Amino acid sequence: MKSIHEVSRRRLLELSSASLAAAGLGMVADAAQTQSTATHDTPNETDPGRQNMPLAQENADSEWPPKTDNGSVKPFKYPFSFSRKRIESGGWTRQVTVRELPVSTEIAGVEMRLTAGGVRELHWHVEAEWAILLNGNARITAVNAQGQAFVSDVGEGDLWLFPPGVPHSIQGLGPDGCRFLLVFDDGKFDEFHTFLLTDWLAHTPKDVLAKNFAVPESTFENIPKRELFIFQSELPAPLTEEQKQASEGTELTNSYVFRASKMPATKTTPGGHVKIIDSKTFSVTPITAAIVTLKPGGLRELHWHPNADEWQYYITGKARMTVFAAGSTARTMDFQEGDVGYIPISQPHYIENTGESDVVFLEMFKAREYQDISLAEWLAHTPHLLVDAHLKFGQQMLASIPKQEVVIRPL
Ligand code: MN
Ligand code: MN
Repeated sequence: MKSIHEVSRRRLLELSSASLAAAGLGMVADAAQTQSTATHDTPNETDPGRQNMPLAQENADSEWPPKTDNGSVKPFKYPFSFSRKRIESGGWTRQVTVRELPVSTEIAGVEMRLTAGGVRELHWHVEAEWAILLNGNARITAVNAQGQAFVSDVGEGDLWLFPPGVPHSIQGLGPDGCRFLLVFDDGKFDEFHTFLLTDWLAHTPKDVLAKNFAVPESTFENIPKRELFIFQSELPAPLTEEQKQASEGTELTNSYVFRASKMPATKTTPGGHVKIIDSKTFSVTPITAAIVTLKPGGLRELHWHPNADEWQYYITGKARMTVFAAGSTARTMDFQEGDVGYIPISQPHYIENTGESDVVFLEMFKAREYQDISLAEWLAHTPHLLVDAHLKFGQQMLASIPKQEVVIRPL
């Protein structure tokens, strides 16, 4: 049986097709059909238009919120497609920070594409950089404060972590470069204000550079006058050759790469599965990730996080989330590919797959350890008479709740 929610989405979809057909027949002036949904059908719950139907369809729970929504919860969604894309010769990038999404104070995110041979130039920053490679292949390099070198190739589903202040680079490999998501542990992070090798040397007197390397000043005639940031270059030499050249016996002991695609799920139910990667499994990371897959109809159960805000990135599929912000306020928003979501610390929420394909999304935390509290687990471990005095579920229902956290419904 279709849920009421699905029915209301269908209705929005049908209305949109009708208006498109009307426009095609030159009936634009008459196309002001009345829009409502199955659950919003009283006389004051209609909209004769005009409106942006594609956006209305993507945001069905804002157009006609569930009746349980109330009050002014600050927006907790920002689509990457709203961000300005900075396009360079070797690729492009765009970001969602606290400037785009004001609630996102703890974490910022960056999408980046590098062509085969395209380089995100040698640089560093104050924040830690967590990444997941979403398409293609890349080579990454880094050198830590002990002078230990790290050169590695990453593929789809691999993660990396560059600690604060550690200089690094990313380069797209064949056949078609790469695309990835970066996550930084400060909402104020700005990808366009990192410490760049070329920018720094362009702002250092040439006689000082000459003295620093004990070479003539003329050596620095050709350094770029402006930063490169992202630029097209040749493909790198074979990995083992570059590793040998970089390390000279000082290879890094703790890997900056984690092959998440090869890791077994932390928890699996018929509703989906989750992989949790925190400092227990990926020792260098100060940023925790949960990679969640929800099957159609799957629900990431009602829960909250007591130790950090949650920053989300939707990789694929369609979902909705309601965040309860206390004081009788709650808001439901819809999410799909490339959307960022955000939940302040301890605010409870759920994520429901509202589409017909899998939802894959990331839960990211500025914390070394993953923590959550599940509604079901909490109630199962509280005296049943006490819970029943609040909620009138009946004690039989309370006894049937699993004592172990489920994470993803259905069981
Ligand atoms: Mn970086
Ligand atoms: Mn959560």
